[in-house]
Amino acid sequence: MANQGVLQAWLYGKECVSMEPKPARPYHLVLLGAPGVGKGTQAEFLSEKLGAVQLSTGDVFRAAKAADAGALSPAMQDAMAAMKAGKLVSDDTVIAMVRERAACLASGYGFLLDGFPRTVQQAEALDEMLADLGLKLDGVLNYTLPTEIVVQRLSGRRTCRQCQATAHVIFNPPKQDGVCDKCGGALFQREDDRPESIRVRLQAYEESTAPLAQYYDAKGLLITVSAEGSPAEIFARTEALLKQAVSD
Ligand code: AMP
Repeated sequence: MANQGVLQAWLYGKECVSMEPKPARPYHLVLLGAPGVGKGTQAEFLSEKLGAVQLSTGDVFRAAKAADAGALSPAMQDAMAAMKAGKLVSDDTVIAMVRERAACLASGYGFLLDGFPRTVQQAEALDEMLADLGLKLDGVLNYTLPTEIVVQRLSGRRTCRQCQATAHVIFNPPKQDGVCDKCGGALFQREDDRPESIRVRLQAYEESTAPLAQYYDAKGLLITVSAEGSPAEIFARTEALLKQAVSD
């Protein structure tokens, strides 16, 4: 179970307090992986195993969207304005937002950074923040999967028009074709789950992340993990590679 005190502080910028016991060995990790590789599931497993808190910038933005605009910090208000205008959130804005929450990086539980850094500029800023906090990254887990497998995984997803629940035509088929098991609503394929859209998204991811992977590889921190197989198999692989790469 992720530490709720740190997570609340990360999501809502609250004070970082918690009564839960800290792990003897806090891990400081970055997770990289294209949409569809199962990075979120691995983050959950890792969080459970290592006691580290999963910190996702995407989650912060989703929480901010639901929050009262007046309660948001200046950096968050900038980020919301950019997203509303359909623009990418700039590096400076994301960096400012993470900086506001730097205490969460040094909570003593360790962290699994997910969705940040996304660019080399963000990675450099993270290095600075960690140096200021007297911390170092232990490793960068880079989950990889051939494009065609990602396309197969994502393009089989169907979403319920009524309750938004999801099914998968191969891996989690509904009892009745095209009908949601949960509420009986109609299942459909979202525009961004179509193979053409998935390929475009994957290419964009590849272009933006390749320099980041190189950046961490040059520092000897990159741990490449094949994301083929079941979540349990991928996790066993992750643990073995982490053990090899990270000393206690
Ligand atoms: P995610 O859940 O990681 O896919 O993030 C959802 C959205 O939040 C992204 O599409 C971006 O618009 C924004 N976002 C999250 N993290 C970052 C980041 N590090 N840099 C820029 N934008 C980000």
